[in-house]
This record gives sequence, structure tokens and C-alpha cells, in this order.
Amino acid sequence: MNKVALITGSTSGIGLGIAKHFAKEGYNIMFHGLEDNGEEIAKSIGEEYKITTSFSNANMLQSEAIENLVQQTIETLGTIHVLINNAGIQFVSPIEEFPNTKYENIIAVNMNAAFYASKAAWPYMKSQKFGRIINISSVHGLRASEYKTAYVAAKHGVIGMTKVLALEGANHNITCNAICPGYVKTPLVEGQIKDQAKAHQMSKEEVVEKVMLKKQAVKEFVPLKAIADMALLLAKDSSATITGTSFALDGGWSAQ
Ligand code: NAD
Repeated sequence: MNKVALITGSTSGIGLGIAKHFAKEGYNIMFHGLEDNGEEIAKSIGEEYKITTSFSNANMLQSEAIENLVQQTIETLGTIHVLINNAGIQFVSPIEEFPNTKYENIIAVNMNAAFYASKAAWPYMKSQKFGRIINISSVHGLRASEYKTAYVAAKHGVIGMTKVLALEGANHNITCNAICPGYVKTPLVEGQIKDQAKAHQMSKEEVVEKVMLKKQAVKEFVPLKAIADMALLLAKDSSATITGTSFALDGGWSAQ
């Protein structure tokens, strides 16, 4: 039987990269995201890899919509084996000018949504004695950078949540781990280059060189494939004892 994966934010960037990788391995996939072409993406990947897919544009700011997303996964794909909490947003600003609504939305999408989705998936994972929850945190879940109060708080919070779920899932073959990437070139990062350029009063090229990759020992954006490979490993049956851990895929950033 094909396993079922729900990947939030899988119609763009890292989530899409992970979804394609899981599709190649024969997972049936619940696609999710706000992109206008989400439905098309889910359909075309389903046809290409001969897997069953479904799609939702549930708003991750709303707990009820997230619960419905999990229900839709169960109804259309039969169950849920793997949950990848990946949807995320970013906003960069000095604290004095940081809008409260931006702060609240970043905490909601990047942290609270992982709680609501994990909670809704939990009874199904528990009853089938198999669950793999993978939280896409960030190197900013392990280290701080200026102008990112909300993001750094949310990503650190997700790592704390990961440890708790690992402990609670231990007797049920439910594992929970976090992946902490350095910079990956996705639409989210393209947006940040623009915002950082404004905050630091630099050109976009200077931001990439002097701000973004400054802290990575390996001066390259992290490839999507590295993250997708790690997620696939964590989803395996044989990874039952890998739990409660954060994997830094950050070009050596957090080694410092
Ligand atoms: P992205 O902007 O390409 O994708 C984000 C996805 O989340 C999109 O599908 C978007 O529609 C969805 N999303 C955002 N807000 C939503 C909402 N309110 N409701 C429903 N869906 C919503 O970004 P990405 O770079 O692929 O980031 C994916 C994850 O990886 C995020 O959690 C991000 O913090 C994390 N991350 C990214 C990087 C990087 O360098 N790109 C580094 C570390 C961690």
C-alpha cells in the first residue's frame, strides 16, 4: 500500500521539492498552499508519478481550516502516515517598526499551524501505530539574526514542540523531528533579499554575499534535494528511533 503524506505549503519552494521527491517514491500526496496553480500542480505530479493526489488551499492562520485540511486528507487519501509542517512566511524589520499583525501571523503560520495539524493527525497516527511528523524549522530555530524577531521566535518554538511530540509519540511509533535549513533559493528567500536590502540599505547582490551567506561556511544556497532526501529518510519505517532531533542542513552555519 502506498503511504500518504500531507505536506503543507507544497505548491511552492521547499514543500514542492519535498513533494516531488515523495511522489517519486510512490507516496500519495495531499498538496497544500495558496498558489493559484496548486490544483494543477497536484494533478500533474499525480499523473507523472502515477500516484493519488489531492489539493487544499486551507488558510494556515485558522485552526479550523487546518483541522479540515487533515480531515480532507483522511477522506480523500484514506489516512495520514507522514505530516510535513512546512508552510511558512517571513518578514524582516527592526523591532521598533515590526507591525504587530506581521508578528502574530508569522507565529501563527510558522508555529501554531504545526500544533493544530499535528494534533488533528495524532489520533490516526496513534491508531495505525505509525506516524512521522517532520517540522521544517530553520537554522533560525537554532541561531538568531537581527530584524527577525517573529521568525526566530517561531522557529525556536517549533523545535521545542518537536521534542515534546517525540516524547508523547514514543510509545506509538510516532516520531517527530525538525529539519533546519540554511538559505535555500525559493520565493520566500527572493522576498527576503528585497526586504533585507531595504533594512540594511544595501543592494540585493550585497545582501546575498554579505548578509545571507555570510554565516554559512559553505558559500552556496542549500539545494532542495538535500532537504527532500533528509525528509524521506525521516519518513522511513526504519527511522523509528530517530526522534526529537533537529537536523541542521545549513552549510556549517550552526557549527559556529
Ligand atoms: P515559499 O514561500 O516558497 O513557500 C511557502 C508555502 O507556504 C507556500 O506554498 C505558501 O502558499 C504557503 N503559505 C504561506 N502562508 C500560508 C497561509 N496563511 N496559509 C496557507 N499556506 C500558506 O517558502 P519556502 O522557502 O519554500 O519555505 C518553506 C518553509 O521552509 C518555511 O517554513 C520556511 O520558514 C522554511 N525555511 C526556508 C528557508 C529558505 O531559505 N527558503 C530556510 C529555512 C527554512
